[in-house]
Amino acid sequence: MGVSMDRAIQISLSKPLIRQVERITLEEARGRVTATPLSSKVDDPRFDNSAMDGFAVRASDCQNEISTLRVIGTSQAGGDKPPKVSAGQACRIMTGAPIPQGADSIVMIEDTEIHGDQVTITGPARTGFIRRRAENLSIGQEALPSGTLLSAAALALAGTMGHGGLEVVKKPRIAIISTGDELVRPGKALAPGQIYESNSHALASLVESMGCEAVLNESANDSLDDLRSTLDALSDCDAILTSGGVSMGEWDLVRRIMEEEGEVSFWRVKLRPGGPPLFGSWKGTPLFGLPGNPVSSLVVFHVLVAPWIARSLGYHGEMGPRLSEKVSVKLDEDIPGAPGKLCLRRIRIRSENGQLLATTHTHQGSGNMHSMVAHNGLTLLPPDTDGKTGEVIDALWLL
Ligand code: AMP
Ligand code: MG
Repeated sequence: MGVSMDRAIQISLSKPLIRQVERITLEEARGRVTATPLSSKVDDPRFDNSAMDGFAVRASDCQNEISTLRVIGTSQAGGDKPPKVSAGQACRIMTGAPIPQGADSIVMIEDTEIHGDQVTITGPARTGFIRRRAENLSIGQEALPSGTLLSAAALALAGTMGHGGLEVVKKPRIAIISTGDELVRPGKALAPGQIYESNSHALASLVESMGCEAVLNESANDSLDDLRSTLDALSDCDAILTSGGVSMGEWDLVRRIMEEEGEVSFWRVKLRPGGPPLFGSWKGTPLFGLPGNPVSSLVVFHVLVAPWIARSLGYHGEMGPRLSEKVSVKLDEDIPGAPGKLCLRRIRIRSENGQLLATTHTHQGSGNMHSMVAHNGLTLLPPDTDGKTGEVIDALWLL
């Protein structure tokens, strides 16, 4: 009756996505994933500088409640080298500007009164208002590991460290094919028995969130010839995701064609929902056959395909692209498990009084896409285990 989720992931990694690397500019790097660790090319900060607008002074000149100093010049960010500060002197200074030689402290502008070329100091002179050279990063220090998603902050850090270009993981091209005679593109007229095709839109979005390029295709009909020609046309893709046609039915032709003409590494995983997925290869290209039921196809992507992509491409566990975070949640209601299967019920996770609480809000049918929108998590109830109110269980918080 199929393999466990962990075993399925392990088997799929025997046919990983091939990881390739390309060099791009920082401007092109948004949302990409680093392929090498990035070290700083500069000290950060590069020089001692002021954290405040104010005056650079000698602390020994500011020991009285009020002292008056002579203003000898200005230190501006990006400006000329500031004058040296001697006893009894102060230098106007802007945030980020270098500390003049001779000064050891900053008085913030709010604690001063300026009269011509004199400044009266009415507040503390603090060394703590100086940002020291390399206090954040030293030259050569590694700050972005390989496999990091270049999010807003990571991009800015790459810039801070002086990287105008960088090596990133080349986006694998992942083909998405829905199968089923009943499927019609949303917006078109429906004949009796037809339904709108929805899985490919979710799968494309998930593929892109995992740092890959989604190659969308027309739905394939439930015919071996149609499936074969569709699959054969995708030989330039790095992987194929199909949805539908992997159950026990007579029309479950993805399974049949893979068994007869492709290569099947596993079929069926002990999951609910999402029992029938298949993994193997079509003429050398790795292929996940996802279930057709809309919830199942998404859930299986979360628990099998996303880890396969992440591990194949060397994504960093915390810093890399990922779709979920494993958390402990306290059940706010009884949630039944499943006999012999890991049970992935949809839950809404919310934080209350320092704890994550889980509740359910719609029915849990594997065809009910509304349940994936009305909830933001999945239980990880072990096989044959019911969840009881008040119990703390593992769950995936979908990001
Ligand atoms: P199957 O696994 O092909 O038997 O499909 C299971 C159920 O999911 C059936 O009710 C299909 O109509 C539905 N289904 C399959 N593929 C899709 C799709 N791409 N979009 C929406 N529903 C689908
Ligand atoms: Mg079908």
